Amino acid sequence: MLKIFINPGHDIDLDPGACANGLREVDIALAIGKQVKQIMEGIGYPCQLIQSDNLNGETPSKPNVCGTANASGVDIFVSIHCNSAANASAKGTETLVYSTGGKAELLAKCIQSQIVHSLSTVDRGVKERPDLCVLRETIMPAVLVETAFISNEEDAYKLQLRQYAFAAAIARGITDYEKLI
Ligand SMILES: [Zn+2]
Repeated sequence: MLKIFINPGHDIDLDPGACANGLREVDIALAIGKQVKQIMEGIGYPCQLIQSDNLNGETPSKPNVCGTANASGVDIFVSIHCNSAANASAKGTETLVYSTGGKAELLAKCIQSQIVHSLSTVDRGVKERPDLCVLRETIMPAVLVETAFISNEEDAYKLQLRQYAFAAAIARGITDYEKLI
């Protein structure tokens, strides 16, 4: 059984993330992350969830995301976010990894495929983002899921009303990945 670390993006007290269409990224990410945890624990996978602006030591008053994940011996790290753009027509799902060609890319492809198929979001693919702290500073396969665009009306509607479907898709992506490794 994989041990799973879930990191809903941003911070309830310090950083709401992207805000648009009456929604805050921090709330959507937490709601989806909690449901991923509930689903995975329900089928026997040990999970930890931390949402914090302290990604790797920069906000000592908050729990350290990468530090905790690295110290806990978890097998995979899944960060959950919503995308946003100045152009309100930008929409869809993308999953970010530090680099392609390894287990993180495999996990990303499994999650990306499940979300795109179950939510009918635009498939923006798996992308390399070596600049992102949670992908760079974690020592296990790590992905950052940009579930959909909070700044796009159609995507925001899904983020508001279909949170369980996003969570179930992420959970299925994780179990798909486990069968492949
Ligand atoms: Zn974000």
